[in-house]
Amino acid sequence: DTARRNFAYDTEAIRAKDVAHHVHPWTDFADFEKTGSMVVAEAEGATIYDSEGQGYLDGIGGLWCVNLGYGRDEIAQAMADQARRMVYYSSFGHHTSVPAAELAAKVTGLAPAGLNHVLFGTGGSMANDTAIRIVHFYFNRLGKPRKKKIITRHDGYHGSTYLAMSLTGVAFDHQGFDLVGEELIARISAPNCYRRPAGTTEAEFLDLLAGEFEAKVLELGPETVAAFIAEPIMGAGGVVVAPAGYHRRIWELCRKYEILYIADEVVTAFGRLGHFFASEAVFGMQPDILTCAKGFSSAYAPLSGTLISDAFHEVISVPQAPGALFTHGFTYSGHPVCCAAGLKTIEIMEREDICGHVRRVGPYFERRLKSLSDLPLVGDVRGSHFMLCVENVADKETKALLPGEVQIGKRIAAAAQARGVLVRPIAHLNVLSPPLILTEAQIDRMVETLRDSILAVQDDLVREGHWRG
Ligand code: PLP
Repeated sequence: DTARRNFAYDTEAIRAKDVAHHVHPWTDFADFEKTGSMVVAEAEGATIYDSEGQGYLDGIGGLWCVNLGYGRDEIAQAMADQARRMVYYSSFGHHTSVPAAELAAKVTGLAPAGLNHVLFGTGGSMANDTAIRIVHFYFNRLGKPRKKKIITRHDGYHGSTYLAMSLTGVAFDHQGFDLVGEELIARISAPNCYRRPAGTTEAEFLDLLAGEFEAKVLELGPETVAAFIAEPIMGAGGVVVAPAGYHRRIWELCRKYEILYIADEVVTAFGRLGHFFASEAVFGMQPDILTCAKGFSSAYAPLSGTLISDAFHEVISVPQAPGALFTHGFTYSGHPVCCAAGLKTIEIMEREDICGHVRRVGPYFERRLKSLSDLPLVGDVRGSHFMLCVENVADKETKALLPGEVQIGKRIAAAAQARGVLVRPIAHLNVLSPPLILTEAQIDRMVETLRDSILAVQDDLVREGHWRG
């Protein structure tokens, strides 16, 4: 299903314009300027095609977002119909659109108990910025202006606006940029089971993490701590699955100290873990605020949501003074075309039982990927359902990493790309977050290609003297 197609794109001309004028996000400009980018020209199902007509099985799902796969005419049609009917009107104040109202009702109906209200946006960073702004507004309204600090985790990823990147805990991502400081943000450890202290069991590790959280709250003073933000499974920070019971335990501590729990479900919502939302269905807790984006519209249009509880809404919806406004929101909050894409995405997910498919096929995917554990370079295979990764190491015993300059993740991704499969390199990891429609046969192909690629890179490393094997 990734056979070549005949296209008539002028790849060299496109690439030249791109290199000369397009500042790419998250790019190593040194090699970008030499090689330019792959021009992704067309796509269908789980396959993307470059402008030369070469097909690739997309193990990245665009960027953990094209959950329903490419080329869904129905979504394109719903967007086109809405654009013709009424492309845009602001949702500020007393205007709305049919799709914004319909989607608000639909998505809150699917969300964990009590999350009955949603503010729309156009991306995950915006959804998280919104969460923090309204948390501050909430405590101001409650007459607790000192309760402002946010506890976040090393290796958490929450986006790349100023505030969302300050919430982010991936040290690599902070290089060269400034952050909001300690007056607002406090950090605790990542719940990384693979790299937990030697000799501890998973249960002991959980006790350590919960203890660290509580100690941090007490050190800061509970009266200064507003919220805790966490992804149910860390994504860009390395597909980190916390020890069993972690989220529930931290959520209970949040309850104890009147701290709001913000679940960043930008990646995990809309089916990636087999449910529309993972917080309650998988992790047994009810966040006060839940943010989502990506799969919300299956990436057919920029769309995000910050969902809030009834109790929270009750506080922020009381006017501060006669005539005062709730001064938050964006031109494109509730954009009708984006909401139409969201509505159609959810309709298809329900009709095709995409969550059921992920619950059935996800464990197969996990098992198949785990079979790579026999390779000497593979230290850990982890994740859940359609959110998985392989951690490559120099030494399985010590878990030591290869030198950074080897760029192991990138090399393996390049080897897989040469074999027609895209996997995402993040430092020494290779991450898999494909469209949720993948069949078992496509999973087999992805895993076997990854195996061949790792073996080929292993041989190269030995030949180059980077690794003794
Ligand atoms: N939160 C999480 C968990 C993410 O993975 C991402 C993006 O990858 C974001 C937030 C930021 O989303 P966006 O890039 O749409 O702003």
